[in-house]
Amino acid sequence: MRCPLVRCRAVMGTRIDRLGRVTYTCPGCTRRKRGQCQRCPKAVDGTKGVAYYCTECRKQKQRESVMRWQRNHLDKVARNQRRRRWAAQGKKMPTEPMSPSEAGKLGGKKGSAARIASLGPERVKEIALKAVRTRWAKHWERQRALAESPNV
Ligand SMILES: [Zn+2]
Ligand SMILES: [Zn+2]
Repeated sequence: MRCPLVRCRAVMGTRIDRLGRVTYTCPGCTRRKRGQCQRCPKAVDGTKGVAYYCTECRKQKQRESVMRWQRNHLDKVARNQRRRRWAAQGKKMPTEPMSPSEAGKLGGKKGSAARIASLGPERVKEIALKAVRTRWAKHWERQRALAESPNV
């Protein structure tokens, strides 16, 4: 059983009095009324009886919630990182799907048509496959790094 207070939600402790009646006490609320942090023996940062955590634990809790959100939204995090990187390079995130020629321009401004013409079709396919594999390897590397330490 948990404390009915939405902000508290601590697991209730039970106590049996002399008449054999079971009474519930919330250790979270007891600490709050005492003005003690929920996680450590320090005093709360804020009004006694209202605040729940000391300064450090409150910041830690915020960090944890950000990390939890990032874990659940890895795709969004990656997209935001890409957007930031592009903004730093002065590029804009496309709002509509790009045409292949536009997408090609994002990569680099070398004459790709001339290059493709000089190479055989087999070689072109090989290069394209290699590029795709490298790109995805990087992608998964990034995702793994994010999952391990999402505290960016
Ligand atoms: Zn409580
Ligand atoms: Zn604390």
